[in-house]
Amino acid sequence: MPATPAWPPKSAPRLFIEDVIAGGRSFAIEGPQAHYLARVMRVGEGDTVILCDNATGEWATTVSQVDKRRVTLKAIERLREREDVPDFWLCAALLKKDRFDLVLEKATELGVGKIRPVITRRCVADKLNADRASSLVTEAAEQCARTALPELDAPVKLDAMLRDWPQERHLFFADEDGGEPAADAFCYAEGPAALLVGPEGGFDDEERAAIRAHPASVAISLGPRILRGETAAIAGMAVWMAEAGDWIGEE
Ligand code: SAM
Repeated sequence: MPATPAWPPKSAPRLFIEDVIAGGRSFAIEGPQAHYLARVMRVGEGDTVILCDNATGEWATTVSQVDKRRVTLKAIERLREREDVPDFWLCAALLKKDRFDLVLEKATELGVGKIRPVITRRCVADKLNADRASSLVTEAAEQCARTALPELDAPVKLDAMLRDWPQERHLFFADEDGGEPAADAFCYAEGPAALLVGPEGGFDDEERAAIRAHPASVAISLGPRILRGETAAIAGMAVWMAEAGDWIGEE
């Protein structure tokens, strides 16, 4: 007896939409998403498309109509609830564009709840194209089959961020000058957390002193070598997910 093919097919395209999805509702997909479905994925009537809305979860929909500029989808069934997002923020100093693009993509794949770009004195870049960054994050979430999008903050200056820091949230400061081994610090600290990583030129002495003086900050080491900012961010997020995030099995 041949096995029945899995449904929905793993190859089904996956998209985040702005609308809130409900069973039986139809959605008109237009613009670049319609082009992607009709021209790239070449969907036809009856095909399956996975839709997420960053609110109710992930739905299987079927293509009910494909026009020149619009693809109409009808929601059939909810496949998964929106994921429980680890209460973990990445606060990363802005880096050169392609390197910060990597940070945005990997932070999304690694499951962070929020990405907070930080402006420090030695940042090479001091602004971020919000629309472009949001598209990168959404595409990464679609690719890794997340059912939630990380929040993406507008860039914030380091001193303002420290001033307004929520006191209940651990601020793990990735410090190449030394600190607690990351895995130890992460696994023993309960509750909301964030990882702060510096720019290509690092933090200057005044910034470093201000970070270390903050009551919520804990300096952590990511080993004996000097990592690029993007490497430190990715490594730090991975260690946190493994020690305190959703890579650990259910208790
Ligand atoms: N001071 C560095 C140097 O001498 O080249 C410049 C900063 S490093 C390229 C970028 C950021 O990655 C640092 O600000 C720090 O947040 C983080 N980082 C790099 N290596 C690290 C390590 N071994 N432990 C903890 N954080 C590290």
